[in-house]
Parts: sequence; C-alpha cells; structure tokens
Amino acid sequence: MIPKYLSALLALTASALAQSTTSTTSAPPSTKTEWAPNGLGAVLDSGLNGLPHSPYTKDKWTWGTLPKFCFDKAKARGCDVYKVEAYNITYSDCNLGPTVMCRCEDAPVGIDDLATDFGKVPVKGRQWVRYVSAWAPSGDQIDPCAADGSDNNIGIYGFCNNKASVYFHEVGHSLDSWAVGNSGSAWSLGQDWRDRINLDSCVADGYAKSSYPESWAQAVTMAAYHANVQNIWTLQPTVSCMANQMNKAIDQVVNSNPLMKRVQGQTCNRIWPAEATVCMGPEAEAAGACAGISGVQAIEKAEKRTVEKRFFA
Ligand SMILES: [Zn+2]
Repeated sequence: MIPKYLSALLALTASALAQSTTSTTSAPPSTKTEWAPNGLGAVLDSGLNGLPHSPYTKDKWTWGTLPKFCFDKAKARGCDVYKVEAYNITYSDCNLGPTVMCRCEDAPVGIDDLATDFGKVPVKGRQWVRYVSAWAPSGDQIDPCAADGSDNNIGIYGFCNNKASVYFHEVGHSLDSWAVGNSGSAWSLGQDWRDRINLDSCVADGYAKSSYPESWAQAVTMAAYHANVQNIWTLQPTVSCMANQMNKAIDQVVNSNPLMKRVQGQTCNRIWPAEATVCMGPEAEAAGACAGISGVQAIEKAEKRTVEKRFFA
C-alpha cells in the first residue's frame, strides 16, 4: 500500500534497525481504533489551511545553477534539470537566511502556494527544515497528493494545495529528530511514546499505524491545530481515546516549547547551513551561467573521494 504521506523511509529504516534489539514491534498495534477514520487531513485541513502565514519575499535564482539537493531530486523524479526553478524565500520572521525552495515546471503546486503553505507553520518549527520542493506526482501514486520529509528536506508530490496538514506533518519529522529528539535520533522510536500508545485505545488515523514516527507526526499536527486553530479537546468525536499521546505531544511542541505555536514576535534562532550549488549542465555552462560554480560531476567526484577516504581510514 502506498501511504498517504511517503515517509522518510531511509532514515526510518536506519533508526528502526538501531532500535530493533530493544523492541519487538516497529509500529503501533493494528488493533488500535482510528480517531479520524477518513484520515487526519479530512478533519484538520480546513482549519489549518485558514491559518495566517508569515509574510515573505521571493527571489528567483538565475537560470543555470541549482542547489545540489534540487539537482539530485530532479534526476530522481524524472524532471529535466533545465526545467527546475529555485527561489530564495525570505520570511519576515527569520533574518538568518532564506529558505531555498525549488520546483519542476510541471509541478501542480506553484511557488507562492509552496511558500504560503509552508509559512503557515510557526517559525520555531519551520526553522528545522532545509529545502522545500514541489514535483509532479509519480505515475504509481494513488493519492493525488503525497509528501516526504527526508533528511530535513520536504518534498511535495502532486496536487497538494489546501492540504496544510501535510506541511505540519512533514515538519514534525524534523522536530522528532532534532528539536524533541537529539542529533538525528527520532524521539518517537523510544519507549515513552510506545507506552503512551499502549495506554490509549486509538491513534490519529490509519496512517498513524504505519510506524511510531508517523503516529507522532500525526499527533504533532493535531497539537498544532490545538495551539493555533481550536482546542482539540472540544472536537467530536472526542480525542480522549488518545489522551496520553495528545497530552505528551501538546507538552512537547506547544507548552514546554512553542515549536508549533504561532506567537506574536517569534523569530528564528537557527537555520541549516546551505549545501553546494551546482551547474545544471553543459547547456548552462555554454550559456555562461555557471562561472565559478563547480559542475555537478566534479562535486560528485570529490564527495566520492571523501566517502572512500572515510571508509578506508
Ligand atoms: Zn510522515
């Protein structure tokens, strides 16, 4: 089954393997009921879509160069690299540097949709994400909108307008590894979250059952709704069937640390360092658009050397 949100599969697999000696299950029990049987988005999207977004300015990169992340992603998604647009999106609540976003020309989500929806996530959460990108849906994609949050980069695939919950969910994965968890190790894979799910009779929705990090990212999206839209405890049906999960998630990302709560005057206090800038290819080079920029092949060669050196050291 293709999940509604493609998860950070590689990262999760690595973490799950690391945890495998201490637990026997890698996902919430399938016997748990679902608070939102039609999916969390069906309940939360209209409220989250209506949230204010941080104002931004956008600056399009001159054609010819791309962040290496966008170049690699374009190759992986079957998008012609010469048809990728990159932008510096500078939000008014962060003066440490822009969020770099890119999209393939054929992506259904436009750059302003991307910047607006991502900007609905409060800056203290948003600041844990590096690149945001939008692409056409893949041929075998069942849901018209899919997304992933891998290595702190968010990918949006397909028709994801008016689905703000997707952005909150994907930011949640970065928070799990870096802001609530430590040094890239997902907090949700620890015993505390398992115990809370065991105490509860339900999880957020069917997708929350695919792994512990997915169940936590869904609970964090609900916590964001609680902090910014409406008291989640007043919704019907009641969320009391997952009270142990909600109390924890609300404490983690709203009360103890307002990572997902928009507060007037809030600003960023960190950003990820930018990665390499690469030339799109020979056509861009020939057009004189890549002066002073390494060709991607040169970078790949250098990276390969580093990896080999590390490996054999
Ligand atoms: Zn996910």
